[in-house]
Amino acid sequence: MPVADHDKYCEMLDRARKGKFAYPAINVTSLTTANAVLRGLAESKSDGIIQVSTGGAAFASGAALKDMVLGAVSIAEHVHRVADRYPVYVALHTDHCQADKLDKFVIPLVEETERRRAAGRANLFSSHMFDGSALPLEKNLDIALNLLERFRKSDLILEIEAGVVGGEEDGVKANASAKLYTTPEDTLEVARRLNAVASGRYMLAATFGNVHGVYKPGHVKLKPSILKECQDAVVAKYGEAARFYLVFHGGSGSDLREIHEALDHGVVKMNIDTDMQYAFTRAIADHCFRNYDGVLKVDGEVGNKKAYDPRSYLTLGEAAMAERVKLAVKDLRATRTTLAG
Ligand SMILES: [Zn+2]
Repeated sequence: MPVADHDKYCEMLDRARKGKFAYPAINVTSLTTANAVLRGLAESKSDGIIQVSTGGAAFASGAALKDMVLGAVSIAEHVHRVADRYPVYVALHTDHCQADKLDKFVIPLVEETERRRAAGRANLFSSHMFDGSALPLEKNLDIALNLLERFRKSDLILEIEAGVVGGEEDGVKANASAKLYTTPEDTLEVARRLNAVASGRYMLAATFGNVHGVYKPGHVKLKPSILKECQDAVVAKYGEAARFYLVFHGGSGSDLREIHEALDHGVVKMNIDTDMQYAFTRAIADHCFRNYDGVLKVDGEVGNKKAYDPRSYLTLGEAAMAERVKLAVKDLRATRTTLAG
């Protein structure tokens, strides 16, 4: 299927919220990892979201260039070209972008979409996240409002964050004293400001104890009931149409019951990065340890070309990551939900 257009993406999100399931939004940094996501989704008969972070995009452009816009365009172009061959829909998204990076990452990508649309072509990305969670809420929403006004003209969906996800992602560490739980008051303010933009469409990453990165099970103290409080408050004040489309960040290490409760409260997108990184690397490490004298030239030997050809272990990484995608889809109750029929 082609990359989901705006109507299809909205239909995906509506269907997820109604059906109480969510799409995995998986960070990719290369053609191989993007292919792994497409394969995992296709084998699960689930639609999904492929996303690129600022650091992942810089990596994708090559270490000599470290050009995050170029890397994001390259990955998106690749997905547009190959997605057609898979029987599911994917949307293309950019992950966390702080206010000081908007002009260097999100805005150039939005301009690229605007140019493409003017030429009668499809959007480059389907949605972008602005992460203003480190700012006071008023400032966060001032910027979000401006973006949403611009995004709606190009059928782009905005993701924002209110409250701070703990831990570290992409080299950005949350302040230890940051507010890890969003309040209903905060989310009412989000709705008051952003719902004023007619036909603007956004998703909200509300925080309920989530932490980016790696933690042993039990470390993360999630309170998904916060999401219900936020939804109840917004529906009571602004009606059913204002119910949020929620995004779950920093969910590695949370247990399935908590994930399911979050889905029950309107989470439609769950970001998954750390678990995918591990799945990919686990398979490669296994290959290298098993084939120690093949990937290396030990004691004057010649190694084994079949073992050190990067395709041999990248294929294993791709397959392992595709399996992890399938597990994510299952955990998010999205198996066999594709709109591709
Ligand atoms: Zn995140």
